[in-house]
Amino acid sequence: MSTAIADNLARIRDRIAAAVARRGPGPLPTLIGVSKRQPIAALEAALAAGLADFGENYAQELRDKVAALGHDPPRWHFIGALQTNKIKYVVGKALIHTVDRPALIDALQARAARDGVTQEVLVEVNLGDEAQKAGVREAELPALLDRFADAPALRCRGLMVIPPVDEPSETRAYFARLRELRDRLAAGGRPGVALDHLSMGMSADFEEAIEEGATLVRVGTAIFGPRPA
Ligand SMILES: *Cc1c(COP(=O)(O)O)cnc(C)c1O
Repeated sequence: MSTAIADNLARIRDRIAAAVARRGPGPLPTLIGVSKRQPIAALEAALAAGLADFGENYAQELRDKVAALGHDPPRWHFIGALQTNKIKYVVGKALIHTVDRPALIDALQARAARDGVTQEVLVEVNLGDEAQKAGVREAELPALLDRFADAPALRCRGLMVIPPVDEPSETRAYFARLRELRDRLAAGGRPGVALDHLSMGMSADFEEAIEEGATLVRVGTAIFGPRPA
């Protein structure tokens, strides 16, 4: 397993470098290895191959993996749906990519203040306007960003999207839309909000995402192989 993971990582790093070259000037994207449901041994293999960023979808699984591996050297990202009763497992441990509603901002603010930490977050945007999906609608995004003015223990660092389609030929348009949205809103100068990050792109389309300005790509199966059931 460990040589397969090291080989996969080497190939993905080459593909990221090529996508950055096609994109031109800009920040180097950070590769997040999405390790949900993967065993600790798989994360250790990726760590040994130099991966420093790990993404998890389930709050208790994040807690358990942080306990097993510690904070040194990995940086942790929380990329799953977050319920307010689970935030205690995540605050102070990970960059949270999935803030999408006022109640979650209020709960995170309360917990981060209580724990004495500054919590960095991204706002997840629902660009497909799909009724069942997580993420704030584009029309409601400016008002949600305004809420960070009343959340001094939080810092909003950018936007995240999971496009409503998976074909790389179709997801690119959503990545471009997220970048344009960010560019428009970044001029707003809101307190507590710096939109320097775009979290977009997964195994099937991280190159398209980088070409459209992704700073954080979330890659699971292309690194770790299929997820255990
Ligand atoms: C699981 C997951 C990924 C990784 O998906 P792959 O197709 O395995 O790369 C990325 N982002 C989110 C939000 C996920 O839930």
